[in-house]
Amino acid sequence: MEKLQDALQKLRIAAGRFMLGRNGMDQLNYALLWAYLILRVVRAVVVAASRSLVIGVVFNVLTDVLLIAMAFRVLSRNLPRRQAENLRWLNWWQRTRRIADGAVKRHRDREHKYYTCKQCGTVCRVPVGKGNIVITCPKCGAKIQAKT
Ligand SMILES: [Zn+2]
Repeated sequence: MEKLQDALQKLRIAAGRFMLGRNGMDQLNYALLWAYLILRVVRAVVVAASRSLVIGVVFNVLTDVLLIAMAFRVLSRNLPRRQAENLRWLNWWQRTRRIADGAVKRHRDREHKYYTCKQCGTVCRVPVGKGNIVITCPKCGAKIQAKT
Protein backbone atom coordinates (compact mmCIF):
# COMPACT_ATOMS: atom_id res chain seq x y z
CA MET A 1 0.00 0.00 0.00
CA GLU A 2 2.80 2.35 0.88
CA LYS A 3 4.56 1.50 -2.35
CA LEU A 4 1.45 2.40 -4.35
CA GLN A 5 1.14 5.74 -2.56
CA ASP A 6 4.81 6.38 -3.21
CA ALA A 7 4.38 5.60 -6.88
CA LEU A 8 1.31 7.86 -7.10
CA GLN A 9 3.16 10.66 -5.34
CA LYS A 10 6.06 10.32 -7.79
CA LEU A 11 3.62 10.34 -10.70
CA ARG A 12 1.97 13.51 -9.38
CA ILE A 13 5.33 15.24 -9.06
CA ALA A 14 6.37 14.11 -12.54
CA ALA A 15 3.07 15.32 -14.00
CA GLY A 16 3.47 18.64 -12.21
CA ARG A 17 7.00 19.02 -13.57
CA PHE A 18 5.79 18.12 -17.07
CA MET A 19 3.03 20.75 -16.92
CA LEU A 20 5.33 23.45 -15.57
CA GLY A 21 5.29 26.44 -17.91
CA ARG A 22 2.45 24.96 -19.96
CA ASN A 23 -1.02 26.40 -20.39
CA GLY A 24 -3.04 23.57 -18.79
CA MET A 25 -6.82 23.74 -18.56
CA ASP A 26 -8.39 27.19 -18.90
CA GLN A 27 -11.98 28.26 -19.59
CA LEU A 28 -11.57 27.92 -23.36
CA ASN A 29 -10.25 24.36 -22.94
CA TYR A 30 -13.20 23.47 -20.70
CA ALA A 31 -15.48 24.91 -23.39
CA LEU A 32 -13.73 22.76 -26.03
CA LEU A 33 -14.12 19.74 -23.78
CA TRP A 34 -17.84 20.46 -23.31
CA ALA A 35 -18.31 20.99 -27.04
CA TYR A 36 -16.54 17.67 -27.61
CA LEU A 37 -18.74 15.78 -25.13
CA ILE A 38 -21.97 17.36 -26.42
CA LEU A 39 -21.03 16.63 -30.04
CA ARG A 40 -20.26 13.00 -29.13
CA VAL A 41 -23.78 12.65 -27.70
CA VAL A 42 -25.32 14.44 -30.70
CA ARG A 43 -23.31 12.17 -33.00
CA ALA A 44 -24.60 9.02 -31.29
CA VAL A 45 -28.21 10.22 -31.61
CA VAL A 46 -27.89 11.43 -35.22
CA VAL A 47 -26.03 8.32 -36.39
CA ALA A 48 -28.56 6.04 -34.69
CA ALA A 49 -31.43 7.96 -36.31
CA SER A 50 -29.98 8.34 -39.81
CA ARG A 51 -27.74 5.24 -40.03
CA SER A 52 -25.51 7.38 -42.25
CA LEU A 53 -21.83 6.51 -42.31
CA VAL A 54 -20.90 9.87 -43.85
CA ILE A 55 -22.50 11.85 -41.02
CA GLY A 56 -20.67 9.65 -38.50
CA VAL A 57 -17.33 10.35 -40.18
CA VAL A 58 -18.02 14.11 -40.36
CA PHE A 59 -18.78 14.13 -36.62
CA ASN A 60 -15.63 12.10 -35.93
CA VAL A 61 -13.46 14.61 -37.79
CA LEU A 62 -15.15 17.50 -35.97
CA THR A 63 -14.73 15.98 -32.50
CA ASP A 64 -11.14 14.92 -33.28
CA VAL A 65 -10.31 18.50 -34.24
CA LEU A 66 -11.80 19.75 -30.95
CA LEU A 67 -9.80 17.24 -28.93
CA ILE A 68 -6.55 17.99 -30.79
CA ALA A 69 -7.10 21.74 -30.34
CA MET A 70 -7.65 21.21 -26.61
CA ALA A 71 -4.58 18.97 -26.23
CA PHE A 72 -2.51 21.52 -28.15
CA ARG A 73 -3.71 24.36 -25.89
CA VAL A 74 -3.19 22.32 -22.70
CA LEU A 75 0.42 21.48 -23.61
CA SER A 76 1.28 24.82 -25.23
CA ARG A 77 4.14 26.86 -23.77
CA ASN A 78 3.07 30.02 -25.62
CA LEU A 79 1.21 31.41 -22.59
CA PRO A 80 0.59 35.00 -23.80
CA ARG A 81 -1.09 33.76 -26.95
CA ARG A 82 -3.17 31.10 -25.13
CA GLN A 83 -4.26 33.65 -22.50
CA ALA A 84 -5.26 36.11 -25.24
CA GLU A 85 -7.34 33.38 -26.89
CA ASN A 86 -8.96 32.55 -23.56
CA LEU A 87 -9.80 36.21 -22.94
CA ARG A 88 -11.32 36.58 -26.41
CA TRP A 89 -13.41 33.49 -25.76
CA LEU A 90 -14.61 34.79 -22.35
CA ASN A 91 -15.55 38.17 -23.83
CA TRP A 92 -17.45 36.55 -26.68
CA TRP A 93 -19.23 34.13 -24.32
CA GLN A 94 -20.28 36.89 -21.91
CA ARG A 95 -21.57 39.06 -24.75
CA THR A 96 -23.51 36.13 -26.25
CA ARG A 97 -25.07 35.24 -22.92
CA ARG A 98 -26.04 38.86 -22.27
CA ILE A 99 -27.70 39.10 -25.70
CA ALA A 100 -29.49 35.76 -25.17
CA ASP A 101 -30.69 36.80 -21.68
CA GLY A 102 -31.98 40.11 -23.08
CA ALA A 103 -33.81 38.35 -25.92
CA VAL A 104 -35.51 35.95 -23.47
CA LYS A 105 -36.54 38.84 -21.20
CA ARG A 106 -37.93 40.88 -24.12
CA HIS A 107 -39.79 37.86 -25.41
CA ARG A 108 -41.49 37.30 -22.04
CA ASP A 109 -42.40 40.97 -21.58
CA ARG A 110 -45.91 41.46 -23.04
CA GLU A 111 -46.40 44.99 -21.64
CA HIS A 112 -43.62 46.65 -23.59
CA LYS A 113 -42.26 46.82 -27.08
CA TYR A 114 -38.57 47.09 -27.77
CA TYR A 115 -36.93 49.17 -30.47
CA THR A 116 -33.25 49.21 -31.29
CA CYS A 117 -31.86 52.62 -32.18
CA LYS A 118 -30.47 52.50 -35.73
CA GLN A 119 -27.83 55.10 -34.92
CA CYS A 120 -26.28 53.81 -31.70
CA GLY A 121 -27.81 50.37 -31.09
CA THR A 122 -29.42 51.32 -27.78
CA VAL A 123 -32.52 49.28 -27.00
CA CYS A 124 -35.52 51.52 -26.16
CA ARG A 125 -38.49 50.14 -24.24
CA VAL A 126 -41.97 51.61 -24.73
CA PRO A 127 -45.31 50.55 -23.24
CA VAL A 128 -47.76 48.68 -25.49
CA GLY A 129 -51.02 50.35 -26.60
CA LYS A 130 -50.00 53.98 -27.22
CA GLY A 131 -50.58 53.87 -30.98
CA ASN A 132 -48.10 55.41 -33.41
CA ILE A 133 -45.46 57.32 -31.49
CA VAL A 134 -42.03 58.78 -32.05
CA ILE A 135 -39.39 57.68 -29.58
CA THR A 136 -36.37 59.83 -28.88
CA CYS A 137 -33.31 57.70 -28.20
CA PRO A 138 -32.12 58.51 -24.67
CA LYS A 139 -28.50 58.04 -25.66
CA CYS A 140 -28.04 59.80 -28.99
CA GLY A 141 -31.35 61.65 -29.47
CA ALA A 142 -32.29 59.95 -32.75
CA LYS A 143 -36.01 59.71 -33.53
CA ILE A 144 -37.57 56.30 -33.94
CA GLN A 145 -41.02 55.68 -35.45
CA ALA A 146 -42.80 53.10 -33.34
CA LYS A 147 -46.12 51.29 -33.52
CA THR A 148 -47.19 50.16 -30.05
ZN1 LIG B 1 -29.48 56.08 -30.25
